[in-house]
Amino acid sequence: MRFETLSIHAGQGPDPAYGAVMPPIYQVSTFAFEGVGKPGEFDYSRSGNPTRKALESCLAALEGGTSGFVFGTGMAAVATALSLLRAGDHLVIHNDLYGGTYRLVTEVTAAQGIDVSFVDMRNLDVIRETIQDNTRLIWTETPTNPLMNLLDLAAIAAIAQEHAIPTLCDNTFLTPYYQNPLALGIDIVLHSTTKYINGHSDVIGGALVVKDAALAERIGFLQNTLGSCQAPFDCFLVLRGLKTLAVRMDAHNKNALAVARFLEARPEIRCVLHPGLESHPQHALAQRQMRGYGGTFSFCMAGGADAAFRLLERTKLFTLAESLGGVESLIEHPWSMTHVSMPESARRAAGIPEDMIRISVGIEHVDDLLDDLEQALSDS
Ligand SMILES: *Cc1c(COP(=O)(O)O)cnc(C)c1O
Repeated sequence: MRFETLSIHAGQGPDPAYGAVMPPIYQVSTFAFEGVGKPGEFDYSRSGNPTRKALESCLAALEGGTSGFVFGTGMAAVATALSLLRAGDHLVIHNDLYGGTYRLVTEVTAAQGIDVSFVDMRNLDVIRETIQDNTRLIWTETPTNPLMNLLDLAAIAAIAQEHAIPTLCDNTFLTPYYQNPLALGIDIVLHSTTKYINGHSDVIGGALVVKDAALAERIGFLQNTLGSCQAPFDCFLVLRGLKTLAVRMDAHNKNALAVARFLEARPEIRCVLHPGLESHPQHALAQRQMRGYGGTFSFCMAGGADAAFRLLERTKLFTLAESLGGVESLIEHPWSMTHVSMPESARRAAGIPEDMIRISVGIEHVDDLLDDLEQALSDS
């Protein structure tokens, strides 16, 4: 079956109790045993819950995996994946990452006796040189946030496979609709479902998807043991959002590309970082690896940080807020908002300038979005 069909039907037959067409919210902590030593399919909601199972099965199908796991937040998914590592292991991780992942790796993972190397994975030789005998995980994110740099997932997976090292890709920005890391040889896909997968800015959640049975078993064990799973009501909301993912992503993609082209032509803008533009240095990789670009990208102001602040305060439809991937348009300042969890030196080293703005283009009418940016730029 195709993506649009799977997103509505995978893991979601009529409910066995009453034939409910949509998966009901099993808002329950525990399930009756059939007899002593004879649990039914579910016994306790931390270990498994029917509403959660519907979402997990649907996400696994969309990513081309065999097992999905959902978590209370995207960061809970990150923390659970990092729990695959033990003291003495070595983690190779990209140096341009979601700020919360950077904070968790530097403040928590490194303090647990795990050796961490942050490297620029656009350079494949650097990855080869960084791998050690004890390297147990290679962690990627593409496109990166907020710089919109891309990593060549097939090439990285091939290097990792030579050394039998598992790889992970944070696929939050593109979703399985536009990018399929498992098909490119990556072992674990991660999502903050808070973003496009739920898509309505009303839930926090995360997910991991794998196809290897041993990895699935270990992640299932960790989800149950750490208790990082997602609650049934939130699973229901994410599942509802997921049904319209394909139509939403098409709309985000079209609007964002139109906004990027509009901004690129304006004298107030110093540069636009959008992998769908011919000016993006990795545009060829984007076309090879991704089927679309999503709705989030960044740009820098010719007038510096002051011009950025003026624009941020003058847009009316684009709300000044963190996060991305909802139906409504948002605008934010990575330097002082989403990436403040990285120390200033790390922000500078990553190349995040103070005049940079990130926008999450929603699915409103594109002319209203362009009018809003036009009035905000003209006044600034
Ligand atoms: C938001 C985000 C996360 C963290 O997810 P939460 O749901 O906020 O905990 C991780 N990775 C990326 C790329 C994100 O955008």
